Amino acid sequence: MDKEMNKYRADFPILAQTVNDEDLVYLDNAATSQKPQTVIDAIVNYYRNDNANVHRGVHTLAERATAQFEAVRQKVARFINAPTSEEIIYTKGTTEALNWVARSYGERFVKAGDEIVISYAEHHSNLVPWQELAKRVGATLKYLDLTADGAVDLAKAEATITAKTAIVAVNQASNVLGVANPLAQLAQLAHQNGAILVVDGAQGAPHMVTDVQKMGADFYAFSGHKLLAPTGIGILWGKGELLAQMAPLEFGGEMIDWVELTQSSYKKAPLKFEGGTQNIEGVIGLGAALDYLEQVGMDKIAAYEQELVAYVLPKLQAIPGLKLYGPKDPKKHTGVISFNLDQIHPHDVATALDMEGIAIRAGHHCAQPLMRYLDVAATARASFYFYNTKQDADRLVEALLLTKEFFGNGTI
Ligand code: PMP
Repeated sequence: MDKEMNKYRADFPILAQTVNDEDLVYLDNAATSQKPQTVIDAIVNYYRNDNANVHRGVHTLAERATAQFEAVRQKVARFINAPTSEEIIYTKGTTEALNWVARSYGERFVKAGDEIVISYAEHHSNLVPWQELAKRVGATLKYLDLTADGAVDLAKAEATITAKTAIVAVNQASNVLGVANPLAQLAQLAHQNGAILVVDGAQGAPHMVTDVQKMGADFYAFSGHKLLAPTGIGILWGKGELLAQMAPLEFGGEMIDWVELTQSSYKKAPLKFEGGTQNIEGVIGLGAALDYLEQVGMDKIAAYEQELVAYVLPKLQAIPGLKLYGPKDPKKHTGVISFNLDQIHPHDVATALDMEGIAIRAGHHCAQPLMRYLDVAATARASFYFYNTKQDADRLVEALLLTKEFFGNGTI
């Protein structure tokens, strides 16, 4: 698929630069993606031509801005196959979306003695909000074991998800191990036990076809910035009947229906959750990003990333002293590849690669319990997106070989 996919790279102006005198190879897409010119243009055009506050005005600019703002809700609904755009709530990102579920749904429906079940492979934003909720309401936080690949182990999950479970919260795909979770089966298990399924889609939505109805989720969260959109905009989707029972979290303009001196009534979802002036430019950028992704095709993106991984994984495995985490089978792998090289600290690996113009990430990747589960302090992580090429993969492998030579298999 190289020829078909490599043409998109030119749409991302930031990629056409040198870093440390080398052509930039950007392999930090799990942290954030780069933005195509169409997204940059959409934001600039909005400020040049249409800028106004939404929902409030009857003047032409306000109507234009509102129409664009609300049209994106429909695009998001289509992108994740939500039944209606009324279930699409704008947030700052995945973190805010998951915190809102923990507070607004959790504090109402999770009771003392209930259990909240997450996996050892969760990002801190799908972990700490549940810890805090458990403390507040007197619930217990339990962890799902992982398979050797790093996905939730379904066989063992049956012992963990029980009639005491109120919430199961897992990632669609891991930001460290590059493996997707069996969500439909987990949804079934959760629902059989009267629990709901919350899905952290931060590393799934950018890379695979997402269908919240097929996966059986009750809530689904993702961040715009990991799928070509600006930072500061994300989505919470929730089933309408659940959103209807949840209280707003922020009170003020825009979310009210009627305000009296001593009490107020609120709008219905989604607007009851969107207090105050929203990130309108972010929403418009997200709309342009989804248009772009739709034109490329999420199925093509998934297939091409798998092709890239199938190309690079054996080359990485052939480097003596390189330890890979996550699935060894490229078919089970998303474009996120975590590894360690000999005894070299992953930060040193990332710094050495930066000298070669290659951007990767090193650290605990906001998943400290997973690091302890894997018995490592940190990993290096190269994460691919559809604008990466096999040449990028080759540059990574060459630079790792150089790094190994430089450090001489040890620490400095
Ligand atoms: N979950 C996962 C799996 C992630 O990779 C990230 C981002 N690193 C988040 C949640 C949090 O996303 P954000 O910082 O955009 O809120």
